Amino acid sequence: MTVIPFVFQNSKSGKKEPFSPKDPSNVSIYSCGPTVYNFAHIGNIRSFLFVDVLRRALLLGGYKLNQSMNITDIDDKIINESIKRKISVEEFTKPWTEAFFKDLETLHVQKLEHYPKATESIDDMVGLVETLKANGLVYEKDGSLYFSIQKFSRYGELSKIDVSGMKSGVRYDADEYEKDDVRDFVLWKNQKNEEEKCWHTRIGTGRPGWHLECSAMIRKVYGSGVDIHTGGIDLLFPHHENEVAQSLGAYPDEEFVGTWLHCEHLLVDGEKMSKSKGNFYTLRDILEKGYDPNAIRYHLISAHYRSKLNFSLSKLDESKTAMERIQNTIYRVLEEGKLWDKVPNSLKDYVFIVPEIQKLNLEFLNSLADDLNVPKALASVFELVRIVNHFLDSNTELFDSLFLKESLLLFYKVNDLFAVFSFEKQVQSLDGISEDWILEQIEARKAAKQNKDFSTADKIRKELEEKGILLADTKEGNTTWKKAQ
Ligand code: AMP
Ligand code: ZN
Repeated sequence: MTVIPFVFQNSKSGKKEPFSPKDPSNVSIYSCGPTVYNFAHIGNIRSFLFVDVLRRALLLGGYKLNQSMNITDIDDKIINESIKRKISVEEFTKPWTEAFFKDLETLHVQKLEHYPKATESIDDMVGLVETLKANGLVYEKDGSLYFSIQKFSRYGELSKIDVSGMKSGVRYDADEYEKDDVRDFVLWKNQKNEEEKCWHTRIGTGRPGWHLECSAMIRKVYGSGVDIHTGGIDLLFPHHENEVAQSLGAYPDEEFVGTWLHCEHLLVDGEKMSKSKGNFYTLRDILEKGYDPNAIRYHLISAHYRSKLNFSLSKLDESKTAMERIQNTIYRVLEEGKLWDKVPNSLKDYVFIVPEIQKLNLEFLNSLADDLNVPKALASVFELVRIVNHFLDSNTELFDSLFLKESLLLFYKVNDLFAVFSFEKQVQSLDGISEDWILEQIEARKAAKQNKDFSTADKIRKELEEKGILLADTKEGNTTWKKAQ
């Protein structure tokens, strides 16, 4: 199996390393998924789109994937919210889980092979705690079970936290806490009051700690560790550090994760977008403002995943314009190359012949293979846009069908990553105006211009504009139209 060699910035080593999965035809990837207690905000969504970019880039590189993202449907926030509303945890999380999948669909995120749920993996969590107990890493206090980090010598290796101030035997019950609180973390929480959702298990009546969930679900899905583990940068400590402690604590002779990838935050006015700060937009908020989901996707993935991205609607507008520039070029190739119905059926094995396209194809793929450098890959896309437009502007006589066909094929490949471009003739909804009428108006305007009757020509253009139809004159003297957004 031939694959493109990738390099990744592995959080474990802090360096770029060649990616060497055990089996390129079965790459295991686990991503920390949503906590389903509300709509995801677009910061969360950035981290899910990063997983989609990783997937699509590796697929373009020829790898075959076995990928999973967990659904955290039990944690402190979920318990508290369901108690407040006097409904079961299942009733509470169901609509939020559905909303999460709906958001992914809206943003053209590919379906993964597995979506394990915490509530369906309790047996696996119990088994893991039993193994940790057998290895002497667990102690009990007031019916809850804690991981003793002093007994695990590799604690801190992943996040590189300073463990010197580590407080022996001092515990943390909350799922989330900060770096300066390096303490023993809870594996299993004793039921504190009757309203709390609990499971009756061999290790007691209670519920799992958040960190335990991911270690157990990875074991459940893969029976081992994984080639790649991803999450937002805020998960590095304590969540991922604790996952490592649990998984290596239970299975010290196995590798838990080959490559750790962490996605940077989406910011608002320089601060992390988060529910608790209240500085967030959900996807729905932005769609309600009339934004196209494709522009949102394009915007969130076009920055490098390891760069912070400061979100603003004006920056989103800029991305929309850039995206439309690519889209308009694709339509031009389809229209002027008469390629509308010539959808390629096997792009994968296609070998480019035209030297410029060959070069851009390689640059595009190599940028993705270099730690998912989407901004650099986009530079190749805009170079393609430039040379295609230049070609179409200057070669009215000499019609090179191979150049246009290969440009189109490369745009298809680009869209395998971006998933925002259309290759189909737009069926425009024209609110009662017929396309024939528009074409008649365009002809009348052309005739007026030929007769140097520019005021009539302008009047026709204005009239169309008022009906939401925009005209554009090409260099060759033709006029195209589109519906205003
Ligand atoms: P949660 O639903 O809170 O468990 O978070 C789901 C994912 O979103 C995790 O991988 C977080 O690290 C990530 N995340 C949370 N806030 C942001 C943000 N502002 N920017 C990017 N990712 C985020
Ligand atoms: Zn996790």
